[in-house]
Amino acid sequence: MSEVVEVSGELGNFTVKVKHNPRYIDMDKCIACGLCAQKCPRKVDDEFNQGLNQRKSAYIKYAQSIPLKYVIDGETCIYLTRGKCKACEKFCPTSAINFDDTAEIATLNVGAVILSPGFKPFDPKGFDFYGYGTIPDVVTSMEYERLLSSSGPCMGHLTRPSDSKEPRRIAWIQCVGSRNTNRCANGYCSSVCCMYAIKEALVTAEHTSGEGLEQTIFFMDIRSHGKDFDRFYEGAKAKGVRFVRARPHSIEPGAGNSGVVMRYTTEDGRTLVEEFDLAVLSIGLEPPADAQQLADMFKLNLDHYRFAQTSDLAPGCTNQPGVYVAGAFQAPKVIQRSVTEASTAAGEAATALIQSRGELTRRKTYPVERSVAGDETRIGVFVCSCGINIAGVINVDELTRYARSLPHVVLAENNLFSCSADTQELMAKKISEHRLNRVVIAACTPRTHEPLFQDTLRETGLNPYLVEMANIRNQNAWVHQREPEKATEKAKDQVRMAVAKTALSVPLASGRVNVVPKALVIGGGVAGMAAAMSLADQSFQTVLLEKSDRLGGNAWKVNATDQGEAIRPYLESLIQKVEQHPNIKVLKNAQLKTAVGSVGSFVSEIQVNGEPRAVTYGVAVIATGGRESRPAEYLYGEDPRVVTHLEFDALLRDQP
Ligand SMILES: Cc1cc2nc3c(=O)[nH]c(=O)nc-3n(C[C@H](O)[C@H](O)[C@H](O)COP(=O)(O)OP(=O)(O)OC[C@H]3O[C@@H](n4cnc5c(N)ncnc54)[C@H](O)[C@@H]3O)c2cc1C
Ligand code: SF4
Ligand code: SF4
Repeated sequence: MSEVVEVSGELGNFTVKVKHNPRYIDMDKCIACGLCAQKCPRKVDDEFNQGLNQRKSAYIKYAQSIPLKYVIDGETCIYLTRGKCKACEKFCPTSAINFDDTAEIATLNVGAVILSPGFKPFDPKGFDFYGYGTIPDVVTSMEYERLLSSSGPCMGHLTRPSDSKEPRRIAWIQCVGSRNTNRCANGYCSSVCCMYAIKEALVTAEHTSGEGLEQTIFFMDIRSHGKDFDRFYEGAKAKGVRFVRARPHSIEPGAGNSGVVMRYTTEDGRTLVEEFDLAVLSIGLEPPADAQQLADMFKLNLDHYRFAQTSDLAPGCTNQPGVYVAGAFQAPKVIQRSVTEASTAAGEAATALIQSRGELTRRKTYPVERSVAGDETRIGVFVCSCGINIAGVINVDELTRYARSLPHVVLAENNLFSCSADTQELMAKKISEHRLNRVVIAACTPRTHEPLFQDTLRETGLNPYLVEMANIRNQNAWVHQREPEKATEKAKDQVRMAVAKTALSVPLASGRVNVVPKALVIGGGVAGMAAAMSLADQSFQTVLLEKSDRLGGNAWKVNATDQGEAIRPYLESLIQKVEQHPNIKVLKNAQLKTAVGSVGSFVSEIQVNGEPRAVTYGVAVIATGGRESRPAEYLYGEDPRVVTHLEFDALLRDQP
């Protein structure tokens, strides 16, 4: 709802004007009861679900929106466009509707800016030979993701658009809007679609009855680079996913306008015609529609596809000091790389702003913790449906009833998404109303969600360690999909155990330990040196351990990056900066021997030139790199004309 409209200034002192578009619902008053949406008569295409279903003009984008506050779509609302209606206003119990709301311009003063506006999915309407937009059972991969989703238009039970029947024969067409300069201008590989198509083909079985399911992927070549990706591809083949090397040249509607008829030519030149229940176009990723506008505002260089231009040697940085980029705005990429880059950009920004670090930090305050000593044990159990993730397998109503029968349980309730913001508010309310002093959440994994529930307890004045989680999703619903009755019985056992355990829980106090504000980086290649520089620039004393007698690692053997940037000058400059940095201690001919301790306080024995030493540190970065694989085939090692890539780079360097 907000967009940047103007930027001025420089690293350390940018003034950014942000336009907050009107919501027409007061965020402070909205309690997310949803009555406005229920009563709103205006239905429009739901863009979050790719227009596959409809939402109201008063709506929330999706169930887990943060903050969970409704909004009125000014472009479709009957009152705002035609002056009549106001049904939402009549029914809103907190008088949150405000039709006088107007756009506001906020001025932010920031030291650095990170641009992560993502990508625009390719629109295949222009590829008329695939019939997208005219043949109902041709969908994009983005639409397919929504069809599979438990919060999507068919609640996670896959049906096809033409007749709402479960499709059995499903075909994916790869590289739609990628690697194509004939029908569009996207010459690049979108890099994620091979893997997401395989993922979609595999998870389809979980969203259908599985009967007669046949998944076919039409591809030019499968790009499964990266750790374990190829194993995933091979695993898909072993599980029966059919891979056909062909680029279908046309799709026609099936009989009665349901399903599709696909025409393609095989590698041996035969033209085949095959029928499928549903065709999925694996669309590519394009730069966001407003990429040029953003670039003009921030005076950024874009590449020739209009993605943000960055250097291979300083990923995350742009041509403008203080302006960083992360994610698919830089180039199409998977979530894992987007997140890694986000850390890089945040690290660069934090380094640039080191002088003012912590100045704006505020501590969250909590109510004084109430004592539960001597109180009757009162346990509340919250059973999560997790959309259909849990409720699609486990009988959550039966489980909730069962939880109510357990000793000390005074409240048991079922929630659609226990982790959503509105459920946290509801839980806090129930804890106070029912004077709960222990809580069990039967949901997913504590690894990701326990801190959230602990925080909710703290906000009600309860000790955070009085919450217990039963993982009925990952350890139950996800692994016993085909045995719902047994899964429900197992969930009862899990909840009973969690209730018994929490009944015995006592409040715990968080201890304080001294943190050693020092880092150990193991490996002095480009990764280790870059990590050491970032830590040292952020004022942390850093020990850089390199087993050989010089820094640089494998980068010495490589001449240039993919973009043709010379590596040697970069490497020499980086080594010089590392060796001269006052916060970095470089130890060469050094090896790690032992490591004991835990986060914040480790001690290691190391050997430097054969001499033992001890080093203490709070965190470690392991960047020991990799080794070039030396094959025992293709006459390697027997004929001097057969060399590896690194050896070839050396030849180019030494005998140009
Ligand atoms: C069909 C499909 C399936 C995929 N499946 C997978 C998968 O299984 N695994 C995987 O790892 N990756 C997958 N991906 C890739 C994944 O979607 C991307 O890696 C990821 O979304 C990139 O994150 P991002 O934050 O860079 O961009 P986005 O997810 O696009 O987020 C950008 C955000 O910025 C907002 N924004 C845009 N412009 C502005 C602006 N001017 N001002 C303010 N806000 C703005 C947008 O509204 C959006 O919320 C898939 C992609 C597609 C198309
Ligand atoms: S006034 Fe607008 S948002 Fe409110 S109910 Fe009518 S159409 Fe919906
Ligand atoms: S990742 Fe696969 S489907 Fe996507 S553009 Fe590259 S080769 Fe084509």
